[in-house]
Parts: sequence; C-alpha cells; structure tokens
Amino acid sequence: MAKDYYDILGVNKGASDDEIKKAYRKLAHKYHPDKSGGDAEKFKEINSAYQVLSDKSKRQKYDQFGSGFEQMGGGFGGGGFSSQGFGGQGFDFGEGFEDIFSNIFGGGGGAGRSRDMRKAGNDIQVDVEITFEEMVSGTRREIELYQRILCDVCSGSGGEPGAKQETCLTCKGSGQIHKTVSSFFGSFSQAYVCPACQGMGKTFSQKCHKCHGEGRVKQERKIAVDIPAGISDGQTISMQGQGEAGERGAQSGDLYVTVHILAHRKFTREGNNLLSSEHISFSQASLGDKINVETIDETVKMKIPAGTQSGELFRIKGKGAPSLGRANRGDQLVKIIVDIPKNTSREQKRIIEQLRKEGL
Ligand SMILES: [Zn+2]
Ligand SMILES: [Zn+2]
Repeated sequence: MAKDYYDILGVNKGASDDEIKKAYRKLAHKYHPDKSGGDAEKFKEINSAYQVLSDKSKRQKYDQFGSGFEQMGGGFGGGGFSSQGFGGQGFDFGEGFEDIFSNIFGGGGGAGRSRDMRKAGNDIQVDVEITFEEMVSGTRREIELYQRILCDVCSGSGGEPGAKQETCLTCKGSGQIHKTVSSFFGSFSQAYVCPACQGMGKTFSQKCHKCHGEGRVKQERKIAVDIPAGISDGQTISMQGQGEAGERGAQSGDLYVTVHILAHRKFTREGNNLLSSEHISFSQASLGDKINVETIDETVKMKIPAGTQSGELFRIKGKGAPSLGRANRGDQLVKIIVDIPKNTSREQKRIIEQLRKEGL
C-alpha cells in the first residue's frame, strides 16, 4: 500500500510550500545514499513525495484522489496503482537531480569513496485510449514501445560472453581518478568518477558486441497492460520496473500508462452511474407504456408510469459502471424527454383541439 506523502515528509496536510521544501531538504540530507546512514529506498520515497507535493497541480490531484488510489493498491496485475503517475513527465531523476544534490552537498562525489555511476533507466509515460464499453468490462492492451531494454547477449553486464572481468587500468580498481586542481586558494586534489569504468572499478576484456558495453539496447518491445473495469478517464496505471533498462544492470525505470476513455454516443458517466435519455410521445407520457431502453449490456424493457413528466429520471439498477476493484456496479439513470408533436395531420389537430376543450 502506498504511503502517505505528507507522512513521508513529516508535514501536515496544510503545510506551506516552504515547509514542504524545508522538510524535504532535511530528510534528503539525512537519507542521501552517499551519506553514512543513508538509505536509498527511503531517499527515493522522499523524492517521490516531494515531486508531487512541490507541484501545485499534482498536489491538488493527490489531495483529491490520493486516498482513493491507495485503496486500489495491489489488487490488479501490473503493480497496482500509484498516485505518482499524475502529470506524466518529470520522473527522470537524471542530471537535474545530480545538480541539485551537488549544490546541497557541496560538490558531490566526495573523496575516498567509490561511487556507482551507472545510469538508472528512465521512466516512460504513455497514453492509451479505450472505448466506453472497455471501461465497463475491463480490457487488456498491448502497447508497443521503442525503448532501452536489457541486452540479451550479455544479460546487462556489458561484457562479451566469455570475456574476463579485469581490474580497471585507468583507476586501478578504485573507481576514481584524482586530478590536481589549481585555484585561488591553492592547488588540491579532487576525485572524479573514472570514465573508463564509470566508477565500477572493473572492466571487461571485451565489450559486448551488441550493446557496446552499455548492457542495454534500444529496441521495439510489446507489453500487455491490464486495464481494470471502472477505471476513470485520465487515471494512470503504474508498472514498476517496466520503464527503460538501466545501464549495465542498474535499476530500471517505471512505466506509467494514462488511460483515456472515448466518449460514447449514448451514455455519459457520472461517478459510477451512467446517464442516458429516451424520447417518448405525449400519449405515452400521459397514459403510461413500456419502452425499450438501451443499456451498456443489452436492451431492457422499462415501465413508463401514467403521468410521467418530461425530464423525469428513472433508475435501472446495476447497469452502471463498475466500482474500481469491486464487483458491484452503479446504476443507469434514464432521463425521459416527452416529445411535443411538430407536424400534425388535420385529424390529429382536431383531437388535440378536443383535448384543449377538456382543459389539457
Ligand atoms: Zn550486451
Ligand atoms: Zn576505472
């Protein structure tokens, strides 16, 4: 189950942007994986929370739908739902993040420690359209993506199969190289991540011929996404680890699938209820009748009581949209529209004249 973002940052729901920023900086400082006592998982969690709460529109959506999303967690294939999906872009903790932390920690990459510089895989966001009927029944979509996936030749290691792993000659296995930098304050030695092994300290005697040592290749890929019945328009399904593969086996990104529901010619949706309208004649309204009503499943008979007014709503139980993750469905609400005859024959006019005399 997803944790509450406010709890993660230790602020209350009404916290100001400033308070959120402060709380985030403090926690990010505390749990940064490069620090002793750091915690990569916790750090990622803090970042996810901050990404949403620091963005006005994301925060608003989270406030509105957050708890609802949590209830749905787990139940469905493909990693369940997460409120991180809002807004699509901006999940790549790439260079930008490095910059931020370089600033906070005064230069990053501290001396004396080896640092894993493999790039994690980017998150991917895609949109899919489904029909109204598919929203009611639930569906499965096969999505085609052109993305970086794990290299199948080297299984992500970057080394040609059979090649030996050797200590990096450039850094002699430390993962770092030192450069002497001269500055106003004098010259000092500064540590850089070794470009030959990207900080790993080891290289292969021969790089993989397919991925040229990156451990991942860009390729067409198909993935099936289960879209649960009752999903809302614009809702995002998150699939952990299904984004781009990381460099040489580094962590994969996530895949975010935003679902759009096409409009229906007959029905509109309001929560879990479906709304439709049916036209009846003046005499049907006055005397009552049984009419055929189209539901999303089938056509059913509906009783129109005598004296039905135009605009009156009738309920057909259980013919609405499903509740996400539950068996029960909403209802169909049928709005009755009484048609006043436009082109009447001479005989019809005579009868209506008669009605007028009767005071109708
Ligand atoms: Zn390879
Ligand atoms: Zn090296």
